[in-house]
Amino acid sequence: MIETLRCTCEAAECDRELDESQRMLTMETSAGIRHAYECECGAVTVTVVR
Ligand SMILES: [Zn+2]
Repeated sequence: MIETLRCTCEAAECDRELDESQRMLTMETSAGIRHAYECECGAVTVTVVR
């Protein structure tokens, strides 16, 4: 689980920083708010904000 204000792509050889312009989905769950980001490389990274 990733827990950070600043997030980077999960893809092993990518490591680009992700920002709000790349956010494609926000979900509110009992564990917190999840944001899904789609990177330019095509990988989707999910973060959790409590
Ligand atoms: Zn990427």
